[in-house]
Amino acid sequence: MTISPAVALTQALIRQNTINPPGNEARCAVLVAKRLEENGFTVTAVPFGKERTNLIARIGGRDALPLAFTGHLDTVPLGSQPWSVDPFGGDVEGDRVYGRGSSDMKGGVAAFVEACIAHRTTLERGPGTVLIITAGEETGSEGAYHLCQQEGLLGAAGALIVAEPTSNTPLVGHKGALWLKAVARGVTAHGSMPEKGENAVVKAAHAVMKLTDFDFNVQRHGVLGGPTLNIGTFHGGLNTNSVPDYAEVSLDIRTVPGQAHVSVREMVGSFLGDAMEISPIIDVPAVWTDPGDPWIRRVFEIMAPLLGAMPAPQGATYFTDASALTPAMGRPPTVILGPGEAAMAHQTDEYCLISRIDQAVEAYGRLIEDWSK
Ligand SMILES: [Zn+2]
Repeated sequence: MTISPAVALTQALIRQNTINPPGNEARCAVLVAKRLEENGFTVTAVPFGKERTNLIARIGGRDALPLAFTGHLDTVPLGSQPWSVDPFGGDVEGDRVYGRGSSDMKGGVAAFVEACIAHRTTLERGPGTVLIITAGEETGSEGAYHLCQQEGLLGAAGALIVAEPTSNTPLVGHKGALWLKAVARGVTAHGSMPEKGENAVVKAAHAVMKLTDFDFNVQRHGVLGGPTLNIGTFHGGLNTNSVPDYAEVSLDIRTVPGQAHVSVREMVGSFLGDAMEISPIIDVPAVWTDPGDPWIRRVFEIMAPLLGAMPAPQGATYFTDASALTPAMGRPPTVILGPGEAAMAHQTDEYCLISRIDQAVEAYGRLIEDWSK
């Protein structure tokens, strides 16, 4: 079997450990930057902490806004289960390339990098492309937000493709994520005299029970569904024979387009009253493009013959760097479309289908040609 340039680049990226934390994405960024520079792209490396780099690569740029692609280079940790393959091997077996980050999302980054290289002549002569390759996505899009804060760096895009794992099915948005830390404080006392203290664990427990009745009071989104609230962690108390003066709860709230996170925070805060102090851990808004948008319709038309059916409007179950990038780049229509298997993301023995990587290169190529007409 011959290995395409995109699969070879996927393997090379898998062989660099970019587990976040700490990330060390610079190892992968160097490989990608070299590949792009050799092919006439202008690459800007934007340092983001020790051994961490975001990349912006451009080519072309005449007459109209560029088509933007984005992907992240960091991966999640390996998990507690042992792997039956080398997570940093990039080994190929049948139609699979194995490794941490293969699906989420080194396969996706490699696919758009190689598609842009293959179509560079078209890109040079037209509106061109901007590639935004980020560090620190898995811990809340920190790398993407870092780029957004650099004055004049990103510029506007005409459309944005996020190459996160979708098995090449185009998705038109995702919920937002608002993770909150809620802290209850009390007064410590000896465990034999609880009446002298004020128990923070009991306060937090009441608050958690109350939250199970929380109502967002918002309409369900037609495609993405309703907002949700999960109580993810509960910690409190140091030892059995003390009254705990501190308890901490974390909440994972997923919001729908149109919900302002500032007001969601206020709602949760006033619902809990004085019992808990609330502060954000992750705050990334929802992303949504109307499936009737002309470019989204083109994406669906272009993907239909490749997928064997006309795609239906659907959303992703995860959040992406588009939460940061779409608002920062002039709110272009945004699609999440990449070769990875969503079910493989963050899993033991993660793999990406080689046929999907090659199909993504083909799809991105058609989208580039269509954009450049
Ligand atoms: Zn991802």
